[in-house]
Amino acid sequence: MSVDSEKLSTLLHETRSFSPSDEFRAQANFNDETIYERAANDPEAYWALQAEQLTWFQPFENVLNWEPPHAQWFVGGKLNAAYNCVDRHAVGPRKNKAAIIWEGEPGDSRVLTYDMLRREVDKAAHALKGLGVQKGDRVTIYLPMIPELPISMLACAKIGAIHSVVFGGFSSKSLQQRLEDADAKVLITADGGWRRGGVIPLKANADEALSATKVENVVVVRRVGDSAGATMQEGRDVYWHDLMAKAPTTPFEAEPMDSEDILYLLYTSGTTGKPKGIVHSTGGYLTGANTSMRSVFDIKDEDVWFCTADIGWVTGHTYIVYGPLSAGATVVMYEGGPDYPGRDRFWEIVEKYGVTIFYTAPTSIRTFMKWGPEHPAAHDLSTLRLLGTVGEPINPEAWMWFHQHIGNERCPIVDTWWQTETGCAMIAPLPGIVPTKPGSATRAVPGIDVDVVDEHGQSVGFENGGYLVIKKPWPSMLRTVWGDDERFRNTYFGKFEGIYLPGDGAHLDEDGYVWILGRIDDVINVSGHRIGTAEVESALVSHSSVAEAAVIGRSHDIKGQAITAFVTVREGIETNQELVAALKQTVVEKIGAMARPEEIIFTAELPKTRSAKIMRRLLRDIAEGRVLGDTTTLADPSVVESLKSQYKEAD
Ligand code: ATP
Ligand code: MG
Repeated sequence: MSVDSEKLSTLLHETRSFSPSDEFRAQANFNDETIYERAANDPEAYWALQAEQLTWFQPFENVLNWEPPHAQWFVGGKLNAAYNCVDRHAVGPRKNKAAIIWEGEPGDSRVLTYDMLRREVDKAAHALKGLGVQKGDRVTIYLPMIPELPISMLACAKIGAIHSVVFGGFSSKSLQQRLEDADAKVLITADGGWRRGGVIPLKANADEALSATKVENVVVVRRVGDSAGATMQEGRDVYWHDLMAKAPTTPFEAEPMDSEDILYLLYTSGTTGKPKGIVHSTGGYLTGANTSMRSVFDIKDEDVWFCTADIGWVTGHTYIVYGPLSAGATVVMYEGGPDYPGRDRFWEIVEKYGVTIFYTAPTSIRTFMKWGPEHPAAHDLSTLRLLGTVGEPINPEAWMWFHQHIGNERCPIVDTWWQTETGCAMIAPLPGIVPTKPGSATRAVPGIDVDVVDEHGQSVGFENGGYLVIKKPWPSMLRTVWGDDERFRNTYFGKFEGIYLPGDGAHLDEDGYVWILGRIDDVINVSGHRIGTAEVESALVSHSSVAEAAVIGRSHDIKGQAITAFVTVREGIETNQELVAALKQTVVEKIGAMARPEEIIFTAELPKTRSAKIMRRLLRDIAEGRVLGDTTTLADPSVVESLKSQYKEAD
């Protein structure tokens, strides 16, 4: 669907605004507002200055070569990502600083200082090299959230091998597709992983996935033990601990990589269709990740950083591994589910380790809302000083809940808009400078040029919505789609010459703030009004009974499309016809009659990707009685089945 000559409507008007406190502003890494203007006037100079925060083995000669759609950043420079994340901190004052504080789901824990992390990464690099892994080879990593996961990634980076992390929740089929697409030489996995007290049989999944691939060796971390039921194949499989025990303990010399050499591949979440192998470079990517830690996340040496994402997603790559470690930060890494053993597990972790910065997803916040504020209230969260969100538009009411119940109305919230493809946060407030508004990611970070345009690439101004675009190249942008440069060109640069198209709809308000309206593919057309999903969903979530909502357009004889809303209520709320009427009325009051849902379906769960994003295309398939599209990235297929039968009954 395209935005066409008619523009996207903007309906919801949010008037609340929160300015940084004087105290926060005074201590912030970035607190000089002129940085925006200076970066806009000379983005290359800005990025070159940021790149100098990294350690280069050989300085770059040229900041940017731009032959649309291909960019090269920091040309001629040589560096190593693992060296920047580990080695350079393992000497001097950070040597014995905690790099990773890991908490296992069953309650075990492990702390790796920068020096200990260096030794582990070096042993793993020796071990992988011993298996024949060379610079440029692909190593697929299919691990739970255990320290061996970042250690493996950094070991690959140290050798110059390209890692491709596949989320541990993926099935064998999804793993197989990704192994084949990347043409991986080695797979690193575990016997199993813990999830909510149960065991995910990773090795068994891997065995099934491997039959048709060219993988030569499988390295198996023993995490669960005998109950995982893993079997080893002679000659192909080897235990991680055996390899590590035999590996030399001498330092492993970091491979000097060209700035443009590939650091990793990562397949996108698959919310909209077949996953793409996104290719990230070394110098540009690391510059973006490192810069945003200092600017958006205001990282300091004293901070304790906790990002709740899984490393299997880009958020974990950038904000558990490469961003915080390149900045020499202390990272809390948690293995399991947020409700295991209790619904206060995250808050218990925050209290236990004195977390200062907490970064999570709107979907988690809506779940916390559903569970109720008594869970965070049972813990001391006073160490927190900054909060962040990523992954989906955050409904203003979810933002307010986060602000009140987690941030104690004291912590700035950075809503960060970005994608696997962008490598790091693109639209987000600098928390010491930019006043926030609940539901808006505010403005592009310094050095990033975003706009909202119509079908012809013209800016739409403040009245209407349109296509979100990024008009200039940036260091951490994807370099291509692995093995499919044509798809890269068409998907991201096919619509507007030399301008990056993320695929999201957005509008700008009178202060120039960006409001994401939802994915362009999900736009609803009711009687000629084009409506993004985010605003209608936020209106529904503003009702005190609602925890979560997803809206879609279903074909309708008269209106073109009618809105169907799928709604999850908060704990203890009764669902009945009065509530249906009240919710429709809320939408009418908040945004207008044209957005009134034709029908409201209550559901205990919404279909989500394994990265916990709502999959509206499947809801459309259900509402229109179609055969369901690609469901391989669905977290829980039973949700769709029950919705299908429920939908038939409601008809
Ligand atoms: P695929 O591209 O395979 O369909 P995906 O788009 O879900 O999957 P990601 O790269 O993980 O894969 O997600 C990026 C998308 O998530 C963005 O394009 C946007 O739609 C949404 N998103 C991320 N952060 C925000 C945010 N802060 N506000 C609004 N939307 C966001
Ligand atoms: Mg996407």
